[in-house]
Amino acid sequence: MTEQVIYPVQPGQKTKLNNAQYQAMYAESLRDPEGFWQQQAQRIEWKKPFSKVKDVSFAKEDLHIRWFEDGELNVTESCLDRHLDKHGDDVAIIWEPDDESQVARRITYRELSKEVNQLANGLRDLGVKKGDVVTIYMPMVPEASMAMLACARIGAIHSVVFGGFSPEALAGRIEDGNCHYVITANEGVRAGKIVPLKENVDAAINLCKSDQVKKVVVLNHTGNACTMEVGRDEDYRQLVDKQDSECQAEVMNAEDPLFILYTSGSTGKPKGVLHTCGGYLVYASMTHEYIFDYERGDVYWCAADVGWITGHSYIVYGPFANGATVVMYEGVPTHPDCGRVARIVDKHQINILYIAPTAIRALMSDGDEPVEGASLESLRLLGTVGEPINPEAWRWYYRTFGRSQCPIVDTWWQTETGAALITPLPGATDLKPGSATRPFFGIEPALVDEKGNELSGATSGNLIIKDSWPGQMRTVFGDHQRFIDTYFSTFEGTYFTGDGAKRDEDGYFWITGRVDDVLNVSGHRMGTAEIESALVAHEAVSEAAVVGFPHDVKGQGIYVYVTLNHDVQASPAIRNDLINWVRKEIGPIASPDIIQWAPGLPKTRSGKIMRRILRKIATDEYDQLGDISTLADPSVVESLIQEHQALT
Ligand code: ATP
Ligand code: MG
Repeated sequence: MTEQVIYPVQPGQKTKLNNAQYQAMYAESLRDPEGFWQQQAQRIEWKKPFSKVKDVSFAKEDLHIRWFEDGELNVTESCLDRHLDKHGDDVAIIWEPDDESQVARRITYRELSKEVNQLANGLRDLGVKKGDVVTIYMPMVPEASMAMLACARIGAIHSVVFGGFSPEALAGRIEDGNCHYVITANEGVRAGKIVPLKENVDAAINLCKSDQVKKVVVLNHTGNACTMEVGRDEDYRQLVDKQDSECQAEVMNAEDPLFILYTSGSTGKPKGVLHTCGGYLVYASMTHEYIFDYERGDVYWCAADVGWITGHSYIVYGPFANGATVVMYEGVPTHPDCGRVARIVDKHQINILYIAPTAIRALMSDGDEPVEGASLESLRLLGTVGEPINPEAWRWYYRTFGRSQCPIVDTWWQTETGAALITPLPGATDLKPGSATRPFFGIEPALVDEKGNELSGATSGNLIIKDSWPGQMRTVFGDHQRFIDTYFSTFEGTYFTGDGAKRDEDGYFWITGRVDDVLNVSGHRMGTAEIESALVAHEAVSEAAVVGFPHDVKGQGIYVYVTLNHDVQASPAIRNDLINWVRKEIGPIASPDIIQWAPGLPKTRSGKIMRRILRKIATDEYDQLGDISTLADPSVVESLIQEHQALT
């Protein structure tokens, strides 16, 4: 990295652990994993205690991952029932509507529990049984969280599909999960626009086998009518209101499935990741408490969609297990303008804010002004997740939202990992913008070379995890071989993340990008993150994406897609300026060969840049774009192709 400014822990900062305590506890978690997790697992409610903590082998021929395997529980008893006695009147969900002029909803734990139990009874009435897969295709409303918990209550496996996905993408997931039940809404609202969810469900069902979907539960969210098929479709409200407010929780084994969730699809066809009950809840709840330094009463906002793993672990399971007050926002961060996020923080007096770098870059592109009107005094901690955060974006977030006093936890993790693995702990970890810093308890990351040899000291390589943690995925649903091939076959005996990383002199990790995206320029291996961050640090640039293309002399050349800030005009002068800028920031080796102006970049619905598509465009392979079902705006691709053809 070109610079490494350290933001030390601020004196007097209120936290759970200081650095020495983190170090000691981390060392202990590796020295005696069984003892460590035996103790940590007590943070959740067990119906029957487990006698065995861990049974794991990462060996390809004998792959198995089991945690707390003879324990029994129902995750909803940790997330709901146990709070009712003393904290039933605490607010569980504060719901902020898309339309700022509408009133927010506040739902207590008692109310949440009642509705989850009723919906669970309703699902049982419809015939849903333990082990059945239920697809949830909902807008960002409290009923989405309720639907997840209702499934968990009766032992059904939920498969949440992001409400922005097309009927085709939805149908693929319904079929892949062999799912007979769908929970949806008539419509969603995002940035003032209506999303026809029920219509999409109908279209998806038509694409599936004729007897695939048996029942559809439909929440009327917007008040508008929608078509209901008699015998198949059920009105959510009618179904729920007639039910008893207590539903006996299904007894689940720790290793029974809790949910399936598809990855974002940045690097290929999405994988149906399967998580189980016991280990997942222990790990989600523990990370939520330590990483966000959560204390009862704090108002916490995770601005992800429930359709992503971040929403599962940090809007639903982690926070509810901890009795947290969770803000849930229906809309998008930039609607109706870049000041919305800051206004929501003030309105609900939010203490902890967790959003993605892509959202931060979007807010930044209008400068400080939209944020300046807000007080933001309630905030004491910020977080990010989803992509490497460009240091420039980190500093902006720190300076504006953080008022130069809130730590930022840059949490690195994956759908597969269940919850965060590499992350600062506030008050314990000195921060470096752009670095996810240090491993969480029980996590042993390592860097290996192409042959799998472990590298020591300050270096870069392929990021692997050497041993299991409770929140790890257990299989790819319906395709265990893909699980073995993707994660355990590249580097024997370890979990391969697919990401590249750098480790500095202080042992801090810097994610350099996907290993698939690494460039090899004249024999120098370079991650995408460093070059992109250098470009984003230029005052004219809003976003950048870097890919390699075949180059006669260098082996690979550097092809850069650049989105300029709103107020900047593309010109040959800026192009030269950017080339010189990168040479100065990183060195001549990183000098871009081709710069293409990109009004928009292809991104997944979860906001990640899909470099594999940009690589195909750069090499004229337009017919090989691969799975693009998770692309947020497919029209971007066509205009990039045209622009590329004009350029070359
Ligand atoms: P697919 O696996 O289908 O290609 P995906 O990897 O984008 O999709 P997710 O599980 O949503 O699906 O994303 C995980 C990836 O996101 C990580 O492997 C990493 O590349 C990136 N990521 C997440 N958080 C961070 C972070 N804090 N810093 C750097 N990269 C991050
Ligand atoms: Mg991935």
